[in-house]
Amino acid sequence: MNVTIVAGDGIGPEVIPAARAVIEIIRPETSFFDVELGYGRWQRTGEAITDEDISLLATADSILFGAVTTPPAPDYRSVIVRIRKELDLYANVRPVWGAGFDLIVVRENTEGLYSGIEKIEADSACTLRCITRKGSERIARYACTLAKKRRVLTIGHKANVLKSDVFFRGICISEAERAGVQVRECYIDALCLDVLLRPETYDVIVTTNMFGDILSDVTAYLVGGLGLLPSGNIGTDHALFEPVHGSAPDIAGRNIANPIAAMRSAAMLLHHAGEPAACGLLEQAVGMTLDAGTKTRDLGGTAGTQEFAGAVLSRLRALVSRQ
Ligand code: ATP
Repeated sequence: MNVTIVAGDGIGPEVIPAARAVIEIIRPETSFFDVELGYGRWQRTGEAITDEDISLLATADSILFGAVTTPPAPDYRSVIVRIRKELDLYANVRPVWGAGFDLIVVRENTEGLYSGIEKIEADSACTLRCITRKGSERIARYACTLAKKRRVLTIGHKANVLKSDVFFRGICISEAERAGVQVRECYIDALCLDVLLRPETYDVIVTTNMFGDILSDVTAYLVGGLGLLPSGNIGTDHALFEPVHGSAPDIAGRNIANPIAAMRSAAMLLHHAGEPAACGLLEQAVGMTLDAGTKTRDLGGTAGTQEFAGAVLSRLRALVSRQ
């Protein structure tokens, strides 16, 4: 297997070594290739990502991605949004689990409000929310395939206000009926509260691009913060795995970031690459480390990123050698 690594900006380069080590322990024959992308590169060279980089990323079996900073500048285009679009990574899969709940946010990843169709004029700014049949059908099918193995599909939308969501909702319901999947629906604003109040009632949630982005950050509250949640960006031909969190410039360079989200993203990558045991083994190693009282600051502990990662990795090595 060959894995392209984009450590990126901010805390990306601090948490990605731990994630890479998870892959090295479980699939030692993996070859890695590093690519520098993001805001740091843009500041240095004037380019955050090029067409050649996209072609290079397309040759990887999988991509492990840290995080990139996107400054709110009108001439700067988000690197990760471009990669998702150009590699057609249409399904953003964000699992969230804890005591008594286990849910997956399936976010459409290539269109909606992040389509990049925008116009800024002197007295107005306009962003087009483009929802297509193709985009909606394939994300609905992806979510239905997951829901079929589980319990129920919930559609998160705002069809009472947005005509584009009347369209999205209709397609999701048709796909769920075709797949024989039990389906519910909820307005996205109400869903953001209800998922916190009654997380155990949710299973697979399908929603559009920006709503999914927000909803998955909201669900981080259920597990103790953004440092814990992994994600996969899945397409037909390519896959990229990254923590849900961003580059967190406020804590970058201080060895205090929690590497669990990045390590779990590596386990998702391995699972996608045909290592079904990877996620379970990592969870055991993480659980044992937390139970032993070794925690990063966001979880109330004092361990630094490297110390915590080292403790998880040595347990993971021991678990793998016992298999
Ligand atoms: P970006 O602009 O790249 O999205 P951001 O700071 O706006 O960066 P996040 O990176 O998602 O957004 O972080 C939000 C907050 O969550 C950060 O300020 C940080 O305090 C916290 N956070 C995020 N990731 C972690 C982590 N791995 N460990 C500890 N705290 C984290």
